[in-house]
Parts: sequence; structure tokens; C-alpha cells
Amino acid sequence: ERLLLDVKDLYVSFDTYAGEVQAVRGVTFHVNRGETLAIVGESGCGKSVTAQTVMQLIPMPPGRIKGGNIFFEGKDLSKYSDKQMEKVRGKDISMIFQDPMTSLNPTMKIGKQIMEGLMKHQKLPKDEAKKRAIEMLKLVGLPNPGKRADQYPHEFSGGMRQRAMIAIALACNPKLLIADEPTTALDVTIQAQIMELMKDLQVKLDTAIILITHDLGVVAKVADRIAVMYAGVIIESGTSEEIFHHPQHPYTWGLLKSVPRLDMETKGRLVPIYGTPPDLFAPPKGCPFAPRCDYAMKVCKTYGPVRTNLTESHYTHCWLQHEWAPKVDDKFAKGG
Ligand code: SF4
Ligand code: MG
Repeated sequence: ERLLLDVKDLYVSFDTYAGEVQAVRGVTFHVNRGETLAIVGESGCGKSVTAQTVMQLIPMPPGRIKGGNIFFEGKDLSKYSDKQMEKVRGKDISMIFQDPMTSLNPTMKIGKQIMEGLMKHQKLPKDEAKKRAIEMLKLVGLPNPGKRADQYPHEFSGGMRQRAMIAIALACNPKLLIADEPTTALDVTIQAQIMELMKDLQVKLDTAIILITHDLGVVAKVADRIAVMYAGVIIESGTSEEIFHHPQHPYTWGLLKSVPRLDMETKGRLVPIYGTPPDLFAPPKGCPFAPRCDYAMKVCKTYGPVRTNLTESHYTHCWLQHEWAPKVDDKFAKGG
């Protein structure tokens, strides 16, 4: 069975004094064993909320799963209690974040922080956990791992802290690693090194990865498949090849234009996408991208586009690609 995670029609909302924020609005995706799915989109598009919901890390309340299922190895995590999730987190599914300082414990030695999970989930005795912790630090490319294990997070550089986070996350050999903007805070050279390290470890350990990022450029070399999110919806999804070479949604076109190409001198020619994402207190009734879309038709402002399957692996939510497309605007243009 290759299928590991199967998220179906997930809706997540936050209840605030100002009203309901519909952060995730009907998201469906899957992750196979050992593969990398990148979830890409601007901040506030719901990509982090989606990932945190898989781990049940959103505070509930104010957050709540309004609908949908999160099947992990066939079991629906959306129905799990806190206690049941405790056993999944860190063991079957691990997560790393943009800023390791928010998840590393500043008062505990790095080695100890790796040992914790090993002793809890794998019931390793202390000396074996320590040995394994040092092995992990070596595996993530830290020189002098024995000495590093006895140091505190503040003695590490930013890149080294991210490596330590990866060591903690992978120590128990999880089936799925969720990495939320893991390299955003790092400089470009270190970014590339960390991405390469993750890819390397993925092959070695056969871990599936969900890579969350606002930067399509980061995923080009590492993602097998890509899901592009906008306003709480996956507006296009396909293999890396399909998204980079045959993108079909105007928002994806915009994202690709804003990606610096390493093989081309494009400095200063990056095209930002004009406008801002919609307010998710009151998502628009038509296509959420319509106010920013150069191709918007009349229908787009009234009816949210339905899913159009382009290939077995590639789909989009855009009226341009819908089978009705040539007729549809006429029809609604007359009726208003
Ligand atoms: Fe643009 Fe219409 Fe497609 Fe939305 S559905 S992306 S507004 S063309
Ligand atoms: Mg985020």
C-alpha cells in the first residue's frame, strides 16, 4: 500500500469575536510513502493551518474541523483524541518549523531533546538513546556530534539549529515529516544545503514529506507533486513537471513569474502578483482569485469554479480549463 495520508474535503474554521474565519475550505490531497508533496501559496492561504490540522496542532477552540477526513494509514486522525494523537506525533508524523527557536527547548541540551522522543516512543534505555542521538546529529551533518549533543540551542548557528530540529524530527523514523517553511529564515546557501539534506535523508529513511512554502523556487528540485493553495482552496495540483511546465491556473502562472530562475539573469524582473488575497471572514462567492485575475470572466465573479481534471494527476479549479469554458461566459454574460 503506497498511500500514506489521504485528506478528504477538509474544512477548518476559527471562531473569533469578529466572526468565523474559513481558513481551509474543502481541501483534498494525498501523500504516498516516501514521496514529497509541496503545498505552496502566499501567507494566510491556509497551507500551515492544513498541516497543523493533520497534526491536531491548531488550538481547538477557537479552531475547529468543520468537515472532512484525515486518513493516515487508513485511520481517521480527525476523530482522534488528544491522547491518541500524542502517540502519533513525533513517532509516525513529525513536524519542523521555520524558526527552530520556537520549538527547541532553550534550557535543554540538544542531545537530551533528541533522546526524549526515543525514550518515550521507542522505549530506548538512556545510554542507547544517547548513542542514537549522537548518530542522528552525525546523520544531519553536524561535525563533532558527541560534543554538540552536550550543547544548548543558543550555542548553535541558525543552520545548525535547523539541522538539530531535523535530527529530533527524524530520530524515531517517522513515516511522514511535515516541514513548514523549514528554510525561510536561512540564507540562500544554507537553504540549499538544508533542502539537500532533507532529500538525502528522505531516500535513506524512506520518509514522506509535506513541504510547506510560499516559494515555488524552493520546491523545484525536491517535490514530486505540488498543490497550490489560494484562499483556503487547492486551486491547482499536479506533478512537479505538470506545475512547472504545464501550469493551467492564472494564479500558478503568477507564482511562476515571481520565481527567480537560476539559469537566467532575471534579477529585478520578478513580477509580483498584484493585489491581496481575499478576506476569509467572508470568502467571495465566485472564484476567490477573480479580483486579481487578468483572465476573469463574468461567470468567475458569480460561481466558484469546479474541479477540472486535466490528467490523472493534474487538476485545477478555474473556469478557463472547464469543458464549458467557451460557452460559459456567453451564457452568464446574457443573464448577468
Ligand atoms: Fe481567473 Fe476565472 Fe480562472 Fe478564477 S476562474 S482564476 S477568475 S479565469
Ligand atoms: Mg505559515
